[in-house]
Amino acid sequence: MPEGDVVHRAAGRLGRALDGRVLTRSDFRVPRHATADLTGRTVLETAARGKHLLTRVEGGLTVHTHLRMDGEWLVSPAGRRTPPGDRVRLVLANADWQAVGVRLGVVDLLRTETEHRVVGHLGPDPLGPGWDPQEAARRLAEQPGRSIGEALLDQRNLAGIGTIYRAETLFLAGVSPWRPVGALGDVPGIVEIAQRLMDANRDRADRVTTGDLRPGRGMWVYGRAGRACLRCGNRISRGEMGAQPQERLIYWCRRCQPD
Ligand SMILES: [Zn+2]
Repeated sequence: MPEGDVVHRAAGRLGRALDGRVLTRSDFRVPRHATADLTGRTVLETAARGKHLLTRVEGGLTVHTHLRMDGEWLVSPAGRRTPPGDRVRLVLANADWQAVGVRLGVVDLLRTETEHRVVGHLGPDPLGPGWDPQEAARRLAEQPGRSIGEALLDQRNLAGIGTIYRAETLFLAGVSPWRPVGALGDVPGIVEIAQRLMDANRDRADRVTTGDLRPGRGMWVYGRAGRACLRCGNRISRGEMGAQPQERLIYWCRRCQPD
């Protein structure tokens, strides 16, 4: 599932292909905006806010997209064939490049001045320009009875963290995901680890949190249920926490992250 690092990289790719260029094609394949046409407008920029993408277009318009479970933006030279079937939700193209959004969870068009309606609730973004770790820690601590595992995934606390960075952050902090936030000694320390991991991976296609680039060694606990903890040798546990329907898998080492 795409997390903040993936979304920020997507914003970079979209920016390099679209910024400052005039759209020669816009194809919204969602019922609500099926007749929208941005042709002739210059793209100003694409900003990432947590897991949300905001592509701002001349004339005070913003294309809001979200990758959700497995969406992605494919950028290629203009005129390339787009993927077949109904996976394509949006195409934005200029004379040189085309950006094809496939399996996007959200495709919306709104006035730029109303962006706060879709991203105003988000907490600080560890990869964003206005990153504010104190504010992130303050928001996390607001519900002391909640488990840190659930609180970390709540985008109102920190924007951009998903199940992978949650699991890896808590392992490195030595904290059980089930611990209540109010029982933690060092919430700012957890925030700092999360930011460091995401920042280290923002320009890297293959996520690594261990510093070990060898295949199968890149993650401490995520996706490693039943295998030996890289630190203590104990079996890694897997569970579910938080509300469905989104994937809520949590991985942790019971010895390194005691309850
Ligand atoms: Zn361990």
